[in-house]
Amino acid sequence: MADSFQLPPASEPSEPQRTLELERLTRENAMLRLAVQEMPHGLSVMDGEDRMVFSNRHLAEIWGLSESVLQPGNTFQSIMGLTRGAEAEQSRQQPMPEKGSVGVRRREWLMDDGRSIEVMVTRLADGSTIALHEDITEQRQRQAQIAFHARHDPLTGLPNRLAMRDELHRQLVRNARGEELAVLCMDLDRFKAVNDMFGHAVGDTLLTQVADRLRGCARGTDFVVRLGGDEFAVFQCGTQQPVSSTSLARRLIAALSEPFDLGGQVAQIGVSIGIALAPFDGDSPDALLKSADLALYRAKAAGRGTLRFFEPGMDAQAQTRRALEGDLRGALAQGQLHLAYQPQVDAKTGRVTGVEALLRWAHPTRGNIPPVEFIPLAEETGLIVPIGAWVLAQACRDAMQWPEHVRVAVNVSAVQFTRRALLNEVTAALEDAGLNASRLEIEITESVMMQDQKQALCLLTELRAMGVRVAMDDFGTGYSSLSYLRSFAFDRIKIDRSFVHDVVSNPEARAIVRAIAGLGASLGMAITAEGVETLDQLDVIRAENCTEVQGFLFSKPRPVHEIVEIIDSIHLNFSKNNGLDPEQTP
Ligand code: C2E
Ligand code: CA
Ligand code: CA
Repeated sequence: MADSFQLPPASEPSEPQRTLELERLTRENAMLRLAVQEMPHGLSVMDGEDRMVFSNRHLAEIWGLSESVLQPGNTFQSIMGLTRGAEAEQSRQQPMPEKGSVGVRRREWLMDDGRSIEVMVTRLADGSTIALHEDITEQRQRQAQIAFHARHDPLTGLPNRLAMRDELHRQLVRNARGEELAVLCMDLDRFKAVNDMFGHAVGDTLLTQVADRLRGCARGTDFVVRLGGDEFAVFQCGTQQPVSSTSLARRLIAALSEPFDLGGQVAQIGVSIGIALAPFDGDSPDALLKSADLALYRAKAAGRGTLRFFEPGMDAQAQTRRALEGDLRGALAQGQLHLAYQPQVDAKTGRVTGVEALLRWAHPTRGNIPPVEFIPLAEETGLIVPIGAWVLAQACRDAMQWPEHVRVAVNVSAVQFTRRALLNEVTAALEDAGLNASRLEIEITESVMMQDQKQALCLLTELRAMGVRVAMDDFGTGYSSLSYLRSFAFDRIKIDRSFVHDVVSNPEARAIVRAIAGLGASLGMAITAEGVETLDQLDVIRAENCTEVQGFLFSKPRPVHEIVEIIDSIHLNFSKNNGLDPEQTP
């Protein structure tokens, strides 16, 4: 059947047919021209010798050329020669298909005026080319923006963690070539307080200003990053270490200790800095950052506004701390915490007027852990909040067993003073025990006043209104002690035991004791000398008119069941000797 199929014989078109065909072609040609002129791309057709055959209007616009340059016959080279500032973007070039082979090639040009032009060239079998030209500036800008945001913190504009790792890699390579490198990790002091007090918008303003000051402290090759939250870092490269990083850290601490003006609010913060040096403290980004972080942790523990260099033992110590932290979480529930009590004695009469509650941790495997080791840990982790509430409740209950005139003194940490709930905890402790508020004395240190003084004063005033007494502990060891004494009428000042320790041998220590006692007398505050261990010390302390004494001379901190007896015996000894006999004190 297929064999029988025949094409119709070709016949010459007639005259009218030819006219129609011509009209159709003319119409099609006009439409094609219009489409080519109006298409959004530039279009060029070149012959096998790279001479212009045809181009559209957009081509001239895109390259910023007059249409005369693009006249048929002009070569590609001569045209590009007239294009001002076009430079091939090397990273985005594909090789041109060989002459004689068919293929597509993409090229990108960067213009002097910042524009990017993409050219897609198709080579045909006869060697001629058809190229589409497109201005892709906006697309490239968008991509650049996305890339920037991926590597920068939107709030401060500083490079972020991702950028930091690459930079650290780069610097470590240089470091391998003998250039020195220091990594400074920073954590703002008291940022959280500002954020809580003034709100997040003000906190953000503060972070932006911090970033500006960090940039201001950095020198040309230093690299500043925001690691997140209130943590920042600076990499310092190519300078003498540890001298340069020490001086940079000092500049940073000084710059961030200056008050910040946050649009009406003034905030005072600070910064702690941990420093690691490559390659000694780590030869990879992770290792270096970890070392700097451990050093930072130490800096914070040592007090605000300090710097610490990494030391090899820090890692092991950090692990021990982490283990201890885990144990401390369970300590309260498992009954491992208890209170010891130390009497406070009237310097004139020898009567016990109060008893200080001191926290003890009987660890199941490590034995007794002293409070100086676990209280800072409890403060950092916030565990001091439930532990402190328990101390208050337990101390008030225990005090119910003592004579009416004996008060109980409870240490309350600065962390507890950041929460209004402290007032409820004190009220609950007093009510549950049935203890009169005037028998509770709260001991605070200057750090309470140093965080948010307004809130601290507010809480202190409310405690006072409840009838609770307030003592300023460890006096003389902090900073601007006198201004705190003016801001609140403390019931008592406790002279730090470092002064009492030297009071006999060191005239300056004695002068300080005398000055504080004089201050107390004129401000109407009782004065307790802490850490009295010898009769000689007691003599001097009494001569300097301290009103109360506390120390091993009378009693070490003892378990609660011994306290009633100790209260009696201290008074008895005093009356008997009208001095004190250390042999007979418990
Ligand atoms: P602190 O409040 O200054 O307590 C007095 C410290 O001096 C106690 O140490 C006490 O045992 C010691 N001490 C008393 N008399 C003498 C003496 O004559 N010579 C010597 N060398 N030391 C004496 P402790 O019990 O180790 O407590 C250390 C610190 O731990 C306390 O210092 C206090 O700041 C903190 N702390 C203790 N219990 C608590 C608590 O329940 N809550 C809070 N937040 N802190 C507590
Ligand atoms: Ca105390
Ligand atoms: Ca003290």
